[in-house]
Amino acid sequence: MDIRQIAVLGAGTMGHGIAHAAIAGGYVTRIYDVSDAAVAKGTAAIDAIVRKGVELGKVSATEADAIRARLTATTRIEDALAGVDLVIEAAPERIDLKLALMADIDRFAPEHTVVATNTSALSITEMAGASKNPSRVAGMHFFNPVHKMKLIEIVQALESAPGTLQVIEDVSKRMGKETVLVRESPGFITTRINASIGNEAFYMLMEGVASPRDIDKALKLGLNHPMGPFELVDLVGLDTRLSILEYLHRSMGEKYRPCPLLTQYVKAGRLGRKVGRGVYEY
Ligand code: NAD
Repeated sequence: MDIRQIAVLGAGTMGHGIAHAAIAGGYVTRIYDVSDAAVAKGTAAIDAIVRKGVELGKVSATEADAIRARLTATTRIEDALAGVDLVIEAAPERIDLKLALMADIDRFAPEHTVVATNTSALSITEMAGASKNPSRVAGMHFFNPVHKMKLIEIVQALESAPGTLQVIEDVSKRMGKETVLVRESPGFITTRINASIGNEAFYMLMEGVASPRDIDKALKLGLNHPMGPFELVDLVGLDTRLSILEYLHRSMGEKYRPCPLLTQYVKAGRLGRKVGRGVYEY
């Protein structure tokens, strides 16, 4: 299927990055959010990425103008969805919002529209079940910040059609991304492995196996990880990591039980860089 128009629903952290990837990939794109302020903030963030691209010599000023000209923004869902070929949903991580958007898509988007959701953990099969055509729905899981991160996890829900997955793969490639295909399961590939490594690192710290600095150094220099597990969890937020582990533990059992030391750090308010201290002090 030839994709010409994309709608991105949600102009927040992920939505603005996704819309930027879409216009940079040559797609005419509409970004939608619920308020003028959110739309303005998302659009300003896209402008900043485009400007930075010119400063760094990645695109010429003329190319940047052409990229920017492909974007329009709206707070009217019916305008966002009219005539689109692909919708990428990047609204907050709440199932009620996502299900309501599925109903809007049924109502206002054409029959042929492919529907991708950027959810990190909600059931894509449940979202698809709320659509009158579940086969057109699948996951398209981007990483933050979108303009720097190469990967997209394409997530196959129970009834995602091969054609749906193919469209998402083609668009990902045109956005300059690499893809992996994963069947819907908690944490997909990346979140599940990353949470396990991070949890193991906390167990080692709790057992006094090594210092945080040495555990981080070992993974960077010995295993070629770009960041150590404690540097990374301080960036992600210890509270976010704990809630991911609790979710994996609930859905997949004992081996994902959060390390008691991680729970203690969260109770102590050591949430990471965002509050000035986590495993390390900032
Ligand atoms: P965010 O809070 O930064 O942005 C969400 C945006 O959606 C806000 O601008 C908000 O105004 C808007 N919004 C609120 N209600 C809406 C509605 N009904 N329809 C459309 N937009 C609405 O959140 P985010 O971090 O961009 O996360 C968006 C999605 O991406 C979530 O499902 C999240 O799990 C997923 N995700 C996040 C990350 C990350 O690192 N932040 C990474 C991968 C996936």
